[in-house]
Amino acid sequence: MSVTITFLGGASTVTGSKYLVQHEGKRLLVDCGLFQGYKQLRLRNWNPLPVPPDQIHAVLLTHAHLDHSGYLPLLAKEGFVGHVYASRGTRDLCRILWPDSGHIQEEDAAFANRHGFSKHAPALPLYTRQDALNALPLLKAVEFDKTISPMPGWKASFSPAGHILGASSILLEVAGRRILFSGDLGRPDDLIMSPPDDAPQADTVLIESTYGDRIHPKEDIPAELAPALQRVAKRGGVAVVPVFAVGRAQALLHAIHLLKMKGELPTSLPVFLDSPMAVHTTHLFEDHPGEHRLSHQDTRALTHNATMINSTDESKALASRHGPMVILSASGMATGGRVLHHLAHYAGNHRNMIILTGYQAPGTRGATLASGAKSVRIHGRDVDVNAEVVQLESASAHADANQLLAWLRTMPQPPDQVYVVHGDPGPADMMRSRIKHELGWRAVVPEHGSTWPT
Ligand SMILES: [Zn+2]
Repeated sequence: MSVTITFLGGASTVTGSKYLVQHEGKRLLVDCGLFQGYKQLRLRNWNPLPVPPDQIHAVLLTHAHLDHSGYLPLLAKEGFVGHVYASRGTRDLCRILWPDSGHIQEEDAAFANRHGFSKHAPALPLYTRQDALNALPLLKAVEFDKTISPMPGWKASFSPAGHILGASSILLEVAGRRILFSGDLGRPDDLIMSPPDDAPQADTVLIESTYGDRIHPKEDIPAELAPALQRVAKRGGVAVVPVFAVGRAQALLHAIHLLKMKGELPTSLPVFLDSPMAVHTTHLFEDHPGEHRLSHQDTRALTHNATMINSTDESKALASRHGPMVILSASGMATGGRVLHHLAHYAGNHRNMIILTGYQAPGTRGATLASGAKSVRIHGRDVDVNAEVVQLESASAHADANQLLAWLRTMPQPPDQVYVVHGDPGPADMMRSRIKHELGWRAVVPEHGSTWPT
């Protein structure tokens, strides 16, 4: 009997990654992500899967980002009892991200109930913090490059993919077919993550295409950051930096450390990391040497050269300090979290600066600020924006189109079939076309919910 793959997410969109592999009545999911972003996508999280969760035998996770792992607490709540295989870094990050995701969903449901705009009465969270805690024991850590057997006759091995701590590509072997899942691929020149390993031989490949239609400028966060921070330090201002807790926060801390070492920034410039999740993630870099580019000294510097802020009281106390100083705080697109308080407090003063890092999705406050808006709505009131707004070009954690193709070219032989996933329709189709014309391989962009042979 053949091996099939059903695209339950990550098909013509960047979120909700879920790939169901079936053979002779056995079922395995690669990735188990939440849909995020626009409302019509988020509503998909409420649709039942086509297969009851108790009939899925195992899950393999490429990495911890919620659009790849965040549906797992719901899968477990609805009856999944198998193992969830993941690298050690991914397991450790899931322990941070899942309970936080449950907490946010409880808060969102409570907010909808207070304002009466939910169709459900009362609005319910997709899952709670407790549901997320209940799912954590299912996680089973695997070593990179060791073959595991998630069930009899099935084999899988994980290899480093760059991107974020623990991120993996996964090679799955069943019934003589070798299926390669790229996961999210990092960029070869990432400041803190190692480049992805070469792609192994496979019959079928699923490749991500987040930036399938784009070429990044050369990655140089310190060079971009230096003049901005020098300006704000000179005028005694405060730089507020909305950051993604996992990955980019650490890259920025490291960049600031490098600039201080080179004498391009005063060593006395105070730096604060105000996000408990980012603080936890930063400590994980010490637990996982060898999975990133940072030396032991560099890793120690991440936690020692910035003041780590955990409690909300400490966070509030930052408002009474004067510049110059740098505050890194989540979330990265200013959609929520503590950074909102800092923006509300500092955005009005022209001596201050707001530094945006990485992709700012349409509709977010980050995108509003990037567009040069003179005011932004925070906690129900309009806040004047007089601070200088700077957008970093080089803080992406994803490979660009040329780097994705270069990774495919590392395969020892062409595969039979490539499925282009994890991209909006435009970038995904551009990647498909380049694979077809530049590599001469068969490639398709599968539709959401469709089933294909491997
Ligand atoms: Zn990711």
